[in-house]
Amino acid sequence: MNLIPLPAFNDNYIWMLHDGQRALVVDPGDAQVVFEAIKRLGVQLEAILVTHHHHDHTGGVTELREATGAQVFGPLLEQVPEPLMRLAGGDVIELLGWRLQVIDVPGHTAGHIAFYTEPQGQYPLLLCGDTLFSAGSGRLFEGTPAQMLTSLGKLAALPDNTRVCCAHEYTASGLVFAHAVEPDNQDVVSHQATVQTLRAQHLPSLPSSIGLEKAINPFLRTHLPGVIRAVQQFDATAQDPVRVFAALRTWKNQF
Ligand SMILES: [Zn+2]
Ligand SMILES: [Zn+2]
Repeated sequence: MNLIPLPAFNDNYIWMLHDGQRALVVDPGDAQVVFEAIKRLGVQLEAILVTHHHHDHTGGVTELREATGAQVFGPLLEQVPEPLMRLAGGDVIELLGWRLQVIDVPGHTAGHIAFYTEPQGQYPLLLCGDTLFSAGSGRLFEGTPAQMLTSLGKLAALPDNTRVCCAHEYTASGLVFAHAVEPDNQDVVSHQATVQTLRAQHLPSLPSSIGLEKAINPFLRTHLPGVIRAVQQFDATAQDPVRVFAALRTWKNQF
């Protein structure tokens, strides 16, 4: 399995998986980017996966489906261009010989889903849309802090070596915030240097890994005393886990 992030718009990635002949893409906001990639690689687009309804993730779906005949898969509960096969947590689909599991991750949007697979002989792979970013998390447009906390908990429970394919290149700014929350976290400092080097060469900072995110991402660390103390400096009323998470999210929004 080959995994390629296709940059789109300012900071989106359309993730493509291909086996040299057949391909699938995740959240194609821009059809043109995908057309160029399938032409360059000489692959046939067989499937389009959609994590949530936002236009920067769905804008190219109809054009790609009509031009290639690719089958579209998307969340049960959201408005995604029809026709599509609707999926919810617990569903398993088999595409290009890979078994993909669907995980419900409401929070950024009400019906957001993620895809997880364990390709033979390779590290597992998570396609998480706008739920988990490297050193960050998606904004809560439709869901509640409690929902997002639960959703991120499901992702954090995946194997540490899971490759995390986020839909945006937000890592550098996420790390600035992570450093403000945990100034003594050396993993944050060293990853900042790594990301700076990559971005200076216009290379993606992704995929990340679950193990790395558990070390650097404040939104996966809200159970830790140091993070709780920092959040309470921002909002002294943040006492229980959901309130701590909600206050951290508000702090990030204002940061
Ligand atoms: Zn979104
Ligand atoms: Zn997005």
